[in-house]
Amino acid sequence: MEKLFVDHGLALDSHQRQQLETYRDLLLQWNSKANLISKNDESRIVSRHFLESALLVHLDCFLRPVRILDLGSGGGFPGVPLKILRPHLNVTLLDSKRWKGLFLRSLVAQLVLEGATVVCGRAEVEAERADQKKAYDVVVSRAVAPLARLAELARPFLKAHGQMLAIKGQRVEDEIAALVELCPNVRVEIHAFPHDRAGLFAKQRIVHVEHF
Ligand code: SAH
Repeated sequence: MEKLFVDHGLALDSHQRQQLETYRDLLLQWNSKANLISKNDESRIVSRHFLESALLVHLDCFLRPVRILDLGSGGGFPGVPLKILRPHLNVTLLDSKRWKGLFLRSLVAQLVLEGATVVCGRAEVEAERADQKKAYDVVVSRAVAPLARLAELARPFLKAHGQMLAIKGQRVEDEIAALVELCPNVRVEIHAFPHDRAGLFAKQRIVHVEHF
């Protein structure tokens, strides 16, 4: 696991390595009950899930101790690998499914992630709560909804000038066109995955959305 991270420009200390190993064990233990990752992915948790999530740390917006919401976190992606690699970040993991909420709470406790919070509920409902509304600098998300829908879900959670980062696959152009139609002033930047020496994430894009 360590070599793959180092190959992608990410050094792990022994504590982080231990946290990722415990995380992998817990995913495998809970997967049949909580449906966290596809069965086919059980053998490639590190590359497909940990590393893909962790590569977000290369973006400048995570240098500061910002407050982040992982919308539709599921098994903790991308929020938990991000938090493990950058412990100064304040991360809230939101998911509507009860078993996923239970898993995430257990994960946060067992990895002793200080400054990580779990909220179990629907984004549309939770965003109305006083402690959630306009509370975040950045919303991150992977595999939850098309960009236009995601922007609608994310907007109420964000402070003024908040930003959204979505991990997406290849067919992102149509989603961006629909987003621009909904929010004509939106600013969208697409980052290919940085440091992708192994070609693992050749098809993945990080879509960075502002002013929406
Ligand atoms: N981000 C994770 C999970 C993707 S699956 C990953 O990349 O592996 C999508 C997740 O979003 C599911 O766990 C689902 O329960 C959650 N979800 C979908 N719509 C939601 C909503 N409106 N509010 C909260 N969670 C939602």
